[in-house]
Amino acid sequence: MDTLMKGADVAAAMKEGLIKETEDLKEKGIHPCLGIVRVGERPDDMAYERGARKRMESIGIRCEVTELPEDITQEAFEEAFRGVNDDPRIHGILLFRPLPPHLDEEPVRAMIHPLKDADCMSPVNIAKVFSGDESGYAPCTPEAVMEMLDHYKISLKGKRVTVIGRSMVVGKPLSMLLLKRHATVTVCHTRTVELSKTCRDAQILVAAAGKARMVTGDMVGDGAVVVDVGINVDEEGNLCGDVDFDSVQEKASHISPVPRGVGSVTSSVLAKHVIKGARCLNEGC
Ligand code: NAD
Repeated sequence: MDTLMKGADVAAAMKEGLIKETEDLKEKGIHPCLGIVRVGERPDDMAYERGARKRMESIGIRCEVTELPEDITQEAFEEAFRGVNDDPRIHGILLFRPLPPHLDEEPVRAMIHPLKDADCMSPVNIAKVFSGDESGYAPCTPEAVMEMLDHYKISLKGKRVTVIGRSMVVGKPLSMLLLKRHATVTVCHTRTVELSKTCRDAQILVAAAGKARMVTGDMVGDGAVVVDVGINVDEEGNLCGDVDFDSVQEKASHISPVPRGVGSVTSSVLAKHVIKGARCLNEGC
């Protein structure tokens, strides 16, 4: 392996520009603010919230958390969400998902102001991602993968890229962002036949399946760039990605670790979206 793609290095490179943009807005009397909406206290959400708050504070962005009880009614949930959506001091909204099973996400996806839609819930922004229109917001994780590839100067034009996973959170939107940059994209999923061969043929492989260490060295071509989006807990209770780091690093030219890989970039992308929201809502895009 030549290069370990470290999320912290990507986030550090983004930080200076984000601080500058935040300061410019503050000079005009606009203080960028992220509104987090959390239902219940899922440990994953709490951990992400802590990280996001820390990242926002380090950039100078305010953070307001709306905590709602796990057993909240649909009506009360929508009312609380509307309050955040209508609050002119808030420029970007992050709703933790999945919601508890008794709550329906659709009404708030339809309701969210497209310019406050920092993690791409609104059908307006989803349509933009799928039509190659960059004026909206992509979901933070796929955009974090793009930031990582760009930071390490991985060219995409004409490259064979395999994405494992076709969810609306990661795999599908990421495939669209890669296509927009002229990569030749193959999307794999649970029904894919010849997964190993398709992965081995890729010059760039992105794993977003949510299966601990499923990508092994024999599935990776020599010199491939391997980005691991997965966040899993292995049998010993340790955090790990979808990529078997030890066997894959011997083949890859670049590899992102888990933890301290893509996940460390996601909250910087979120900050970028809140700043864009603050600018667009106040000054137009
Ligand atoms: P998901 O369960 O919604 O989707 C997983 C996708 O992977 C599906 O399309 C499925 O068909 C495919 N898949 C699963 N097992 C497979 C297999 N054995 N072979 C081929 N394809 C397979 O998950 P998601 O929300 O897209 O998240 C994927 C992973 O990324 C999870 O580990 C999640 O925790 C992680 N994640 C990380 C971040 C981050 O910031 N780093 C953010 C979101 C999700």
